[in-house]
Amino acid sequence: MRLKKPFMYWLEYSFWNVVDLVFPPTCPGCQTIGERWCENCQKAVTQMPAQVCQVCGEPSPKTLCKRCDVSRSAVVHIRSWAVFKQPVRSALHTLKYRHNIGLGQVLAESLAPGLNEFNWPIQAIVPIPLSEERQRERGYNQVSLIARPLAQLSHMDYLPRGLRRARHTRSQVGLTLEERKQNLKNAFLADPKLVAGKNILVIDDVCTTGATLTEAACALSEAGARSIYAYTVARAISHKDA
Ligand SMILES: [Zn+2]
Ligand SMILES: [Zn+2]
Repeated sequence: MRLKKPFMYWLEYSFWNVVDLVFPPTCPGCQTIGERWCENCQKAVTQMPAQVCQVCGEPSPKTLCKRCDVSRSAVVHIRSWAVFKQPVRSALHTLKYRHNIGLGQVLAESLAPGLNEFNWPIQAIVPIPLSEERQRERGYNQVSLIARPLAQLSHMDYLPRGLRRARHTRSQVGLTLEERKQNLKNAFLADPKLVAGKNILVIDDVCTTGATLTEAACALSEAGARSIYAYTVARAISHKDA
């Protein structure tokens, strides 16, 4: 995997740099005007602890957490760039509600070195999709704003239609792991024409229990994908684990 920026990436994002000169952005972490994401906010990001479960990425003193020790996951590895708290929380909120393409690029550039270090044998990147209803409402999928530049930076195929929501699901906020699993059962469908035979990296903004990523991986496996990896911007860590 090379981190050299491809020409099209450079061209496209130079355009957004010009837009920044005309309409100065605001740093979502501290409201500084003229910065998409300032250096102080980047320094204030809480990295994930070094000791995590090798499969699900949950902080764990052992190589495998209790859950992964007893049942096999559909995802080979789940990893996250940062802990889900400020200023990353504000950055993801801005991405979700303000269609901030420049910020998506900044986050992709933060995620790219970690992905490069994992050295996973990935061929294509698939974003976790929104339901059609939610996408119509919002006008875009915020995960694509990160996944697309990340695919360009990592020289991988980008498959925005690799996965789709088979049905609308209720919000996961406040649900337990079991309730989340039930809520997401068969929620995704993958396109075999796009994913069969490939090693796929699934991208999402936040990982809470891993239920969404696992369900997406099941759909990809059923469509013939070879192995599935997942990487998210942030991970929600409960206080007992922190
Ligand atoms: Zn800032
Ligand atoms: Zn685990």
